[in-house]
Amino acid sequence: MQAPIKEIFESIQGEGILAGYKQVFVRFVGCNLNCAFCDTDFKEDEKTLHLKEEELFDKVRKFDSESLSFTGGEPLLHHQFIKSFLTKYKKFLNKEIYLETNGTLYKELEEVIDLVDVVAMDVKLPTATGDIEHFEDNEKFLNAASKAATFMKVVFDSKIDDDEIEICTILANKYNIPIVLQPKMPLDNNLNCLEIYNKFYSKFKDVRLIPQTHKFLNIQ
Ligand code: SF4
Repeated sequence: MQAPIKEIFESIQGEGILAGYKQVFVRFVGCNLNCAFCDTDFKEDEKTLHLKEEELFDKVRKFDSESLSFTGGEPLLHHQFIKSFLTKYKKFLNKEIYLETNGTLYKELEEVIDLVDVVAMDVKLPTATGDIEHFEDNEKFLNAASKAATFMKVVFDSKIDDDEIEICTILANKYNIPIVLQPKMPLDNNLNCLEIYNKFYSKFKDVRLIPQTHKFLNIQ
């Protein structure tokens, strides 16, 4: 089996609960969503690598990071490859497996969840993405993710509404997972982060406000 991989690199995680930790990143080609704020180049081009499981293993084993992030785009579009790769090689990697996902492909998650240690699940708010909502899929996704350590990341701007806050906090409460609030960059002049934070906090206490730290540090 082969998968199209945009890039493989080692860096410092800039988002979420593991912000500040070193990871090796495997960025897959393709995404099933189309968020207005997307800042990731996940399109296939002439530099795209088409790797078999053993070729990916040879590349990632050379990095000493203790955490391996599958990211994208949407890595679960390649769930069959991820399952095959981890089934063969996870025991030899000695790395925690971290999945960065938009939280919509719950059937695909079910295929790999037994092999994943940490799930970083985005909830994509319509007010931020300019797209439709995916809350029903997000709930099914969280149900499938409950075997791994999971947190919810919410990218927001000043347009976030009370219904979105309500749904996120209900889901986080139900599945007992932390929420990481991440302001959309560049910062919107009308945005009062503390006010938004307190709206979440009034409904759910395990909530953190963490911006994209790699952008301040000027690292990938
Ligand atoms: S889900 Fe992520 S990668 Fe896909 S379009 Fe949205 S921000 Fe970009």
